Amino acid sequence: MTDQPDIAASPEVSPETESRKLLGRLREALAEDAAGQARLDRIVHLIATSMETEVCSIYLFRDAETLELCATEGLMPEAVHQTRMRLGEGLVGRTARSRTIINTADAPAAPGFRYMPETGEERFSSFCGVPIQRLGDRLGVLVVQSKAAREYTADEIYALEVVAMVLAEMAELGAFVGEGAALSARHTHPVLFRGTQGQEGAAAGNVYLHEPRVVVTNPISEDPEVELGRLRAAVEQLRSMVDDMLSTARSVDAEQIQVLEAYRMFANSRSWMRRMEADVAAGLSAEAAVEKEQGLARARMGQSGDAYLRDRLHDLDDLSNRLLRILTGQGRDTGAEMPDNPVLVARNIGPGELLDYGKRLKGIVLEEGSVGSHAAIVARAWAIPLVIHARGVLTEALNGDAILVDGDQGVVHLRPDEQVKKAFGDKIAMAERALERYASIRELPATARCGTTISLQMNAGLMADLPSLPSSGAEGVGLFRTELQFLIRNQMPKRAELSALYSRVMDAAGGKRVAFRTLDIGSDKVLSYMKPNDEPNPAMGWRAIRVGLDKPGVLRMQLQALIRAANGRPLSVMFPFIAHPNEFRDARAEFDKAMDRERILGHVLPQTTEVGAMLETPSLAYAPAAFFEEVDFISIGGNDLKQFFFAADRENERVRRRYDTLDVSFLSFLELIAEKCRAADTPLSFCGEDAGRPLEALCFAALGFTSLSMRPASIGPVKHLLRSVDLREVRAEIDRARESGEQSIRGPLRQWLSRAGWYVA
Ligand code: PEP
Ligand code: MG
Repeated sequence: MTDQPDIAASPEVSPETESRKLLGRLREALAEDAAGQARLDRIVHLIATSMETEVCSIYLFRDAETLELCATEGLMPEAVHQTRMRLGEGLVGRTARSRTIINTADAPAAPGFRYMPETGEERFSSFCGVPIQRLGDRLGVLVVQSKAAREYTADEIYALEVVAMVLAEMAELGAFVGEGAALSARHTHPVLFRGTQGQEGAAAGNVYLHEPRVVVTNPISEDPEVELGRLRAAVEQLRSMVDDMLSTARSVDAEQIQVLEAYRMFANSRSWMRRMEADVAAGLSAEAAVEKEQGLARARMGQSGDAYLRDRLHDLDDLSNRLLRILTGQGRDTGAEMPDNPVLVARNIGPGELLDYGKRLKGIVLEEGSVGSHAAIVARAWAIPLVIHARGVLTEALNGDAILVDGDQGVVHLRPDEQVKKAFGDKIAMAERALERYASIRELPATARCGTTISLQMNAGLMADLPSLPSSGAEGVGLFRTELQFLIRNQMPKRAELSALYSRVMDAAGGKRVAFRTLDIGSDKVLSYMKPNDEPNPAMGWRAIRVGLDKPGVLRMQLQALIRAANGRPLSVMFPFIAHPNEFRDARAEFDKAMDRERILGHVLPQTTEVGAMLETPSLAYAPAAFFEEVDFISIGGNDLKQFFFAADRENERVRRRYDTLDVSFLSFLELIAEKCRAADTPLSFCGEDAGRPLEALCFAALGFTSLSMRPASIGPVKHLLRSVDLREVRAEIDRARESGEQSIRGPLRQWLSRAGWYVA
């Protein structure tokens, strides 16, 4: 393979013995038992004398916007901790903001120069500022200045960059914290993150990192030869790891192979290796050399507008993490104990991984993620507060940190102060009082003031969900997502296991109806033990019933298991993602065949059976009336239906919230389905996430839906609201808004409710 484009470009430098010497001295200085400020003072002195320059200063961030002179050799000592500048202000501020080196022989003439009399700086003509940053996180600026008008050489700049990196690493480790501290410890301040609401609710707990960050504790090496050996051995190991991954992935998933090919390309990149070797030769440890390259790649990742390049930089970032894990033995499975009240903090997580953690999580915070994903649905089903898009939380949070998750506002408080904790405690107490209110109506029906009763059911997918059935007040399980059972396993479950499981589900439901939805895999629900497909658009690809009909083995096994599990009890089955009446007919034929087979085998058949279709694509709404008559019931999978109605990916946060469920177009469409079902006398329910939102539930009920299935925690609030209104009045309000040309019913309905003393979020 040819050598690869220089993605993480750094100046081509030969290892400088001067920088090695400087690093050697730095290591000694850091090993001394000095307190924070003394350590920084020693470092600036060391750099200034080694580089024979009059001034060396370290500026560190006080807060996200303010830099403070924390140590200097050569400027007025009185200026330390007095001189401050905003991000972008003066040459120091510009260095920090641009994250690039500013090297000028005539500083007063440079754009942005700011005169600071307290430092006496006008006497210095040359200026070189190097950003101090750790993996894209800005920490400060390292500055050298001299009277003579000269530009610093590439070798000198290289030495400064290396020192800046060591400083960043030491700051991360808290090396400058202590008596007379120059800065307070990293990861000790309260930090607030504003993300996006994923699942309502409030949780107080402690951080548990899904993938703990690797911490480099030895940035400067003692023996470059030894480090070089370590680096080469680790890269060798990394290469064979990538080769192994490629050989097992071969010919299975083209996208995965593409990523792995990119990994191999980087792992074998000579320029990547050369740069790291140069860093090690200059005195960095193998880990620090890897992290230096990673930091450069991250900085470019943040700046690049080219999606392809960003993806590749992401690959390089991931590969660097793997290399760091090999070198340090840290990372996943570190054995870090889960703290009490764990709040999971991750970049992103799949539904399978989340199911592995189980319900013990108190909250979930993701840097990425999306509300429509199945991981979010699992979090919602378990009523675990979830905040997504909490940018920067991974760089800040440490295992065990106190954390408050406000799923209602999409806000996360990391290491909160006492005042925030108190306010949050009040919020949790209020939520608990609301729960008590809901508990008081648990046994009452969801009968509106007009006398219409709506059947409220719950969505489930795991045995562990069933205990919520009595406590939520649900009348049954309107959607049992059978694929969740498949997702938590490492291999295909056997028919007997499934049958035993379904039987336990029916036992736990205690005679209440459970609508089992047959396997809905594909899209974002990928089984690790099934051959993945290379599809450009899996949500519209080979998924759900399409897989079931094309490869009917698993569907047949599942149907048999369900019939056996019913063992004389009523059985309710529905097929996911029916886009055409014939798909339903074929699926139903499979069910009928399974019944015949079981009869012949002498098994007890279900007492009654009902076979339904999930309406999740607009096409089915326009099926001929005959279809609506032959199907036993219809359940609207609103999550998918809405994404196809508006052509807006449910997992893409950019487009997902563009379209309101209460948009008149969508409501009119739902109404049309309700009318078709009414005409055919076919029971209709709505089981997407929107059914659990009080305002949406109200509209659906007013449009004629008499059965709604939702996560258990939503039943209380939905029932509470339904019992307080007259659905005829809601309907009139919808019609009024529609006739007056409103595009969404949400605003008018909220206003109408607030006039009646209701505030509904
Ligand atoms: C839906 O699409 O609304 C639905 C209930 O199915 P799922 O969310 O599992 O795709
Ligand atoms: Mg669906």
